[in-house]
Order: sequence, then C-alpha cells, then structure tokens
Amino acid sequence: MSTRRERIIDILKKSGRPLTINEIAYELGLNDPKEIKHLYDDIVHASRSLQRRSNGRLMIVMEPPKCAVCGFTFKELKRLRKPSKCPKCRSERILPPRFLIVET
Ligand SMILES: [Zn+2]
Repeated sequence: MSTRRERIIDILKKSGRPLTINEIAYELGLNDPKEIKHLYDDIVHASRSLQRRSNGRLMIVMEPPKCAVCGFTFKELKRLRKPSKCPKCRSERILPPRFLIVET
C-alpha cells in the first residue's frame, strides 16, 4: 500500500473542493513534471482502494478537462491526462481535469 495514495485521499478529503493534478502535486510537495505525470496513475489506484475500503460508498471522480475557448469537454479519455489540444477548435488552452471524493 503506497503512502502517496493514502496522502492523495487525505488531501482530497480535506480540500472539500475539486483539485487539479497540479494542486495535488503542490500539496504532496512534488515539482518534477515526470512525477506529476505519474500522479494520474496514483489517483486511479487511490480511487480503487478508497472504493474497496469504503465498501463502494466513497469514490474519486474526475471532472473532465475542458477547452477554455469553445467549451469542448473531453469526456472520453483513453488515458487519464491533460489533453494538449482541443479536437474541435485546435486551441491549446485546456482547463485541466479536477478530482474530488464523492459519496455514492
Ligand atoms: Zn476548443
């Protein structure tokens, strides 16, 4: 069981509002972009263990990334990440995905 995943759950529980990857990284004291990329994986695993431990009561949900220019929402991401470009208007101003813990 990874400590970082535990800490991600704690950070999200305490925040009370959706957080971006960068905000979570900041709370964890990470500033290496490579490590920050790994956080997406950690969040997927943290979500699974949170769901298991709460008997499915709690889970981490993602607000999908969105284009800041045309409002296109990236609902179907093959991989969890911040997309670099909007497929609709080609803008690179993408609002990053945000994560929060919800009760189901
Ligand atoms: Zn767009």
